[in-house]
Amino acid sequence: MDLADLNPAVLMRQTLLGMSRNDSLRSVIEAAPVSRDVVRRFVGGVTHQDVLAAATELVDTRRLVTIDYLGEDTVDPAMAEHTRDAYVMLLGLLAEAGLTADATVEVSLKLSALGQALGRDGNAIALENARAICRAAANAGTTVTLDMEDHTTTDLTLSVLRDLRQDWPWVGAVLQSYLYRTEQDCRDLATEGSRIRICKGTYKEPETVAFQDKADVDRSFVRCLKILMEGPGYPMIASHDPRLVEIATVLADKAQREADSFEFQMLLGIRPEEQLRLAASGARMRVYVPYGEEWYGYLMRRMAERPANLGFFLRGLATRG
Ligand SMILES: Cc1cc2nc3c(=O)[nH]c(=O)nc-3n(C[C@H](O)[C@H](O)[C@H](O)COP(=O)(O)OP(=O)(O)OC[C@H]3O[C@@H](n4cnc5c(N)ncnc54)[C@H](O)[C@@H]3O)c2cc1C
Repeated sequence: MDLADLNPAVLMRQTLLGMSRNDSLRSVIEAAPVSRDVVRRFVGGVTHQDVLAAATELVDTRRLVTIDYLGEDTVDPAMAEHTRDAYVMLLGLLAEAGLTADATVEVSLKLSALGQALGRDGNAIALENARAICRAAANAGTTVTLDMEDHTTTDLTLSVLRDLRQDWPWVGAVLQSYLYRTEQDCRDLATEGSRIRICKGTYKEPETVAFQDKADVDRSFVRCLKILMEGPGYPMIASHDPRLVEIATVLADKAQREADSFEFQMLLGIRPEEQLRLAASGARMRVYVPYGEEWYGYLMRRMAERPANLGFFLRGLATRG
């Protein structure tokens, strides 16, 4: 065993990642009476109706929303179709509820959930499924952003982006500052109207492709921010990091950007007061809202990322279960 593995933070992270794959534990937590309330802080619910209610609540407090139907790593074409149909249905309901005008509420997609990993034809299957969702988004008057997954999929995802943008130039992409390649990707993608979400990146990546040191990831984030803010595109700054939010604000000022020419993005339940502060200051603030049957794995991965969140979860289970 590596000595670093004995570090309590590493042990906690490994335990939580183990919990995310443990089906019996999942059933216990799902059945706990309080789970629903506690989970609501980080997840927009299980059903379309749940997420419509969660989105409405956020919009009522001047926040924009992007919704992710949970379900990564699809191993079967029927599951990919199920995910596609869920998005199409959701977009129709959002439009009916009057939530999609000016992309107030949009959707985020993972190509792996749409079939990208289904063998040789995976990318083509994911592209076709993504096209159906983009058509539904266009009908609803809103936009779509392609989440970015691990580095083995970056080129494929950017090629799907290029294809989709031929018909729907508003399709957005995500770049991760932990990858060495990302500064160049920012230069290539900082074009007129191009919607680019910049984040640190959430997957465990090898040092052959990614910075390992947090300070290097942050420095790369700032270099990427400069490129995006100075370019003619639409930067989306996805971070809860107070320093990066501050730096983004300064760079936007320096580039003489209007408040509606970029946006901040944070995850549901994380730094909600800061979300409200940014929205009240006149900035565009979008909240990423995951929902669906697969909420359990998502929740455990968030806990693993920041075990401090676990206190909130366990307190809820202990005091109200
Ligand atoms: C809207 C959105 C979309 C994303 N999309 C993708 C994607 O497509 N692909 C991908 O790989 N990753 C994605 N991510 C995840 C991202 O890459 C990071 O893993 C995640 O956001 C954590 O990084 P951070 O910038 O928030 O800062 P961290 O390095 O996690 O934290 C920095 C600082 O932020 C503050 N902070 C962080 N979390 C909390 C908290 N829970 N409570 C209070 N303060 C906190 C603390 O001050 C902390 O020191 C997305 C993130 C967001 C917000």
